[in-house]
Amino acid sequence: MNEIQDNPEVLASPAMVEPYGPKHPCKIGFRNATLKQEAELWQVHIGTSIYIWGCLQALDRLAVGTAIDAEIKTFNRWFGDNTPENIQTVRTVFDNIAAGLFDVQNVLFYDLDQMRQYKVCNQKNGDIAMSSHGVWTITLCEKQFEVLPFCGMTSKVSTIVHELTHIAGKTVDHSYKVAECMWWAECNDDRVFGNASSYQYYAAQTLPMSYKFDAATTDDESNTYITLGNLMICCKYNSADNEFRIEDEYPKAIVDVLPESRLDSSMGVDSLAYFQIPTPSFCFTKGNEVVQDFENAPTQIQPITALWQNLPTAFQDGFDALCCQLHTKDSFITKNDKVAICSGFDFQIEQTIVDQWPTVPVMFRAGFDAILFLDLYTQLATKDGQYVDLSDTQNSGVLVSMMGPAPANSEDK
Ligand SMILES: [Zn+2]
Repeated sequence: MNEIQDNPEVLASPAMVEPYGPKHPCKIGFRNATLKQEAELWQVHIGTSIYIWGCLQALDRLAVGTAIDAEIKTFNRWFGDNTPENIQTVRTVFDNIAAGLFDVQNVLFYDLDQMRQYKVCNQKNGDIAMSSHGVWTITLCEKQFEVLPFCGMTSKVSTIVHELTHIAGKTVDHSYKVAECMWWAECNDDRVFGNASSYQYYAAQTLPMSYKFDAATTDDESNTYITLGNLMICCKYNSADNEFRIEDEYPKAIVDVLPESRLDSSMGVDSLAYFQIPTPSFCFTKGNEVVQDFENAPTQIQPITALWQNLPTAFQDGFDALCCQLHTKDSFITKNDKVAICSGFDFQIEQTIVDQWPTVPVMFRAGFDAILFLDLYTQLATKDGQYVDLSDTQNSGVLVSMMGPAPANSEDK
């Protein structure tokens, strides 16, 4: 897999389905990338698009006063006071990026060639990436880019966010240093608004707190896995603070967590559940297919109707949400306002969500984004980043944001 392409190829990027972004994103061109590098850049590009979308959503909440504490603190940390003017200044940079990133006429080139030509890679402390204002080309040093983690403060995705602020936001590099960027924000120094790394770090800390996610499950070691588009986080629930803490090194690309899967999870999955029978496995569904990811065994992909016997018609094309109770082995499958309850993989009962859980708030009755057992007895349903405890009949109806605190600051290496 080392053939280098002589001519750049321009491809339509996969349609970003709402709510991750408009349906007609820009085209992508690769120059001198191997097939393996192209595949990874696709994932990075989709992840970056979700980060840009997530920042715009967070800035909207800041502007209208519905942001929670952690979102406000993250803005303060990188841009100083959350005044309407400051929020608008930051918003304009992300708007300009989105205008190009989601313009069907635009082509964004990922170029792995020029760095070789200029031998930047051979220089000590050479740039990981280069770009210039108004030119939709990101030139990457393949050696330095390759070793970065997928997401995080200094990562593949955050590098692309950084470069996009140069291309679309007229930013420069006043400082790459985390401590210096934070100090300027604390002093309300205007340099932060023109500094690419300030946007990079802001995006890296804002997206993992996103309000929206697609699928969630908790394994038998209390790790909760949540997916958003092609990204996945692992977190642990802290009952003392009533919030989830994201583990280090997440988000990751789902395809990196499930490298052997042939399921097309490159744009995300519909539902995700942890099963203990017949052997421990994660089940991912996408459309009418399911993949079971067993430890130390090859993954199996099959139609959902082959795994779950006698499913009612409404569930045969795919699920919104899926979970399994590890003690009773009952599995719950939701699709729109209906829930199918199975004993293991054998279908038993179909009814409406409101029949099964009469006290769920109105916003949950038309369907869930995800359903999970946090432990043996606590069953949560999520919708638009809020959860309701289905098992607590006293408290059912209480909406709680899933958002936890901002991830701990990581220092520059
Ligand atoms: Zn830069």
